[in-house]
Amino acid sequence: MDLLAELLASDDAQLPARLPGGATVERLAPAVWQVTPANAWPGRPLIVSAGIHGDETAPVEVLCGIVSALCAGALAPRIPLLLVFGNLQALRAARRYIDDDLNRLFGGATVSASCEAPRAAALIAAIDRFCARNPAAVHLDLHSAIRDSRYACFAIAPRESEGPLGHEPRTLLAACGIEAVLLTGVKAPTFSARSARVHGCEAYTFELGRVRRLGGGVSGEFAAVDRALRALIAADPLPPSETAPHVFRVSRELIKQSDAFQMMLPPDAANFTGFAAGALIAEDGSQQWHAEPGELIVFPNPAVKPGLRAGLLIIADATSDT
Ligand SMILES: [Zn+2]
Repeated sequence: MDLLAELLASDDAQLPARLPGGATVERLAPAVWQVTPANAWPGRPLIVSAGIHGDETAPVEVLCGIVSALCAGALAPRIPLLLVFGNLQALRAARRYIDDDLNRLFGGATVSASCEAPRAAALIAAIDRFCARNPAAVHLDLHSAIRDSRYACFAIAPRESEGPLGHEPRTLLAACGIEAVLLTGVKAPTFSARSARVHGCEAYTFELGRVRRLGGGVSGEFAAVDRALRALIAADPLPPSETAPHVFRVSRELIKQSDAFQMMLPPDAANFTGFAAGALIAEDGSQQWHAEPGELIVFPNPAVKPGLRAGLLIIADATSDT
């Protein structure tokens, strides 16, 4: 079965209703499947999503590989599992989105009549159904970064609590090859933030490597997450990792006030670029932002409309130090 080809061809891709070993498969929406193991082992339910942005294809290929292994009996699921392929139309068009960024449609507000709106509603319904049956799930939403980054693989961790990131989450992130994690609140309209906010999931957006062409193959950057996902699904011990992720939290948001906004960074500046203390980061008319000691920037984007966020300033999270 070439699942990727089927997903690219239509919304009607089907998986067998029963996997080798007896797990059952239920289709909750187009390209959204719940897998229920014949005999569940202790282990947290898992939601894995990919392709929320249609041009981020390497994670889609990772997830297709896992689905194929499940269907072939090469990977035996021992925890309840929800497999989600996100923006199918954008995936077919090899675009980030068609009308609306799907990863901004999970904030709860009424959504405009875009091509992505019904897909967001379908994904929400599937997540709600899965989480009602399977509380305390982990949700890993797999993306690939659209700009260079000092850390090739990093995670955004929307959390209700302000406390330090515990040992268990850090072990999971390290096993997934995540080198840095940014702790944020749960208000963002992203897929992972909604799972944390509405269902109390331990949820992450993973930004893995760089966007590349569909069919370009899965590179080494994705090997760790592929291995870790298979271990989680099989309720096996996580592969050991020698490094722990650096933990950051948000210090300030750069909100663009007017068209006079200027950022003192090249437009392609890498995520996690640091500054000398006191350096001018941005200015907007008479307002200036100077770097506090240890501040770094992620998601710099001076081209946003006035009123929107042009970047996030972050600092190392001292409370999460090992
Ligand atoms: Zn993305």
